Amino acid sequence: MTVSGLDSSKNQTPVKNVVIAGGGTAGWMAATALSRLLGKSIKVTLVESKDIGIVGVGEATIPPIRTFHKLLGIDEKAFMRATQATFKLGIEFENWREQGHSYIHSFGITGRECWAGEFHHFWLRAKEYGFGGEFGDYCPELIAAKQNKFATSEAMPLNFAYHFDAVAYGRFLKSLACEAGVMHKEGDIEKVAVCPQAGNIQSLQLASGEVINGDFFIDCTGFKGLLIEQALHTGYDDWRHYLFCDRAVAMQTELTAPPVPYTKSVAHRAGWRWQIPLQERMGNGLVFCSRFMSDEDAINTLKSQVTGVPINEPRVIRFTPGKRRRGWNKNCVALGLSSGFIEPLESTSIHLIMTGLIRLMRLFPFDGITQSAIDEYNNKFDSEMSAILDFIVMHYKVTQREDSPFWQQCQRMEIPPSLKHKLALFAETGRVFLDDGDIFRVDSWTQVLMGQGMTPSQYHRVADEMSEQSLKQFMAGLKQQVDNHVAKLPLHEAFLTKYLR
Ligand code: FAD
Repeated sequence: MTVSGLDSSKNQTPVKNVVIAGGGTAGWMAATALSRLLGKSIKVTLVESKDIGIVGVGEATIPPIRTFHKLLGIDEKAFMRATQATFKLGIEFENWREQGHSYIHSFGITGRECWAGEFHHFWLRAKEYGFGGEFGDYCPELIAAKQNKFATSEAMPLNFAYHFDAVAYGRFLKSLACEAGVMHKEGDIEKVAVCPQAGNIQSLQLASGEVINGDFFIDCTGFKGLLIEQALHTGYDDWRHYLFCDRAVAMQTELTAPPVPYTKSVAHRAGWRWQIPLQERMGNGLVFCSRFMSDEDAINTLKSQVTGVPINEPRVIRFTPGKRRRGWNKNCVALGLSSGFIEPLESTSIHLIMTGLIRLMRLFPFDGITQSAIDEYNNKFDSEMSAILDFIVMHYKVTQREDSPFWQQCQRMEIPPSLKHKLALFAETGRVFLDDGDIFRVDSWTQVLMGQGMTPSQYHRVADEMSEQSLKQFMAGLKQQVDNHVAKLPLHEAFLTKYLR
């Protein structure tokens, strides 16, 4: 059917051959999803270089990865055994609000959902009365993380994600993808052939001389964006004026204590440091701003702060926070680092690979590429990236730290207008504004905003509908439920060992 007045700009070539360039986390996630879910309609080929390594430091995830795994029919225990995975209930932020202070951003719901006004309004009212404890006391995931406890069962559900070994994850997905029929090619891509008239990518030429033709290409070649940028010149929005950190140094160490069910993020004078516990090792990294810290200083700082015997030498990774101007350009979609990188503070990159893939599969151009599908993909990509940008920038802006030039600059920086609005709304009214593309919901915003030190000047008056006595009972009842839930949980390591035996 055609709709009069609409410009139907369709490339009539049906898409049957999809070529994925790159075999890092993005490449193998794409290969697994496309082969397992669309394998009857399309042929999938993946090309990777054995000489060009993968970034290999994406080790912390957020809960929707479990839905993705379910969609692909991935067995949780097999995945966890293969990747040294541990459970993750959230992130502990240390020294972010001020030195010596810490809070947890957990994956759980705090208190109870209320259609008229969210739980934090009731909590704020309780604080005014002089009772109510900590905001986090009402969230089972947060208290479980604090007490190093974990279990997953239908009777006692917790919302969780994983920490895993990114290199092992790639290997694990590779075996699933190849089983599902993905054609695997090894070699260095030396040339990307682009049609001079249409501007579409036609083929990839390997160093061996082999030419790989395709109808549709997925660029998973990492930061360099071999197809999306070097061949198609799509452009990049550089966000370094909002996000000052542009380098990381990563190293692994032996575990010195049982793995905790949360990521640790410790702010330092020019950025922050992560600790990601796996079953048998700790992933460590220092994220920093090269204007305020040299590579040598970062390496020495990281070495002096890790505990445990080093397993490898520290490795410096450079990046430019930002996003590709278009995630889908011509007959190419960029996934993973080739599509942009906001910085790893809230573990959003692997999630974005997943959402990009799901969006692509929903809009998949089986019968030819249409401009409407490209626009839809790019609009959603833009709003998702902008919403995450706001959430991450908020961590640097809402803080009392002013003890170094880096933090002073964070205090002074201009922030995106959308974030300015969200912060003003919360400070003045206690209301949380959510963008359509926001993967972080009210509970995340309230936990982090209040964790970083922002308290709204008023609460929603729905909380006044409860008498002081009823509110006291309500809060005490909720806290009791959380305490009872967490009291029944085993220690994380004990559960992990039993679960994976
Ligand atoms: P890469 O891993 O760089 O893979 C690129 C692939 O392309 C490789 O297989 C390479 O061989 C291939 N390739 C490149 N050039 C060629 C060529 N010419 N010919 C053939 N093949 C080629 N994400 C999270 O979700 N959680 C985290 O905790 C997290 N932490 C991070 C910490 C840091 C410091 C950084 C930098 C990133 C982090 N990420 C994290 C992001 C995560 O690492 C990436 O999103 C993820 O690894 C995907 O990478 P990729 O597959 O896009 O690229």
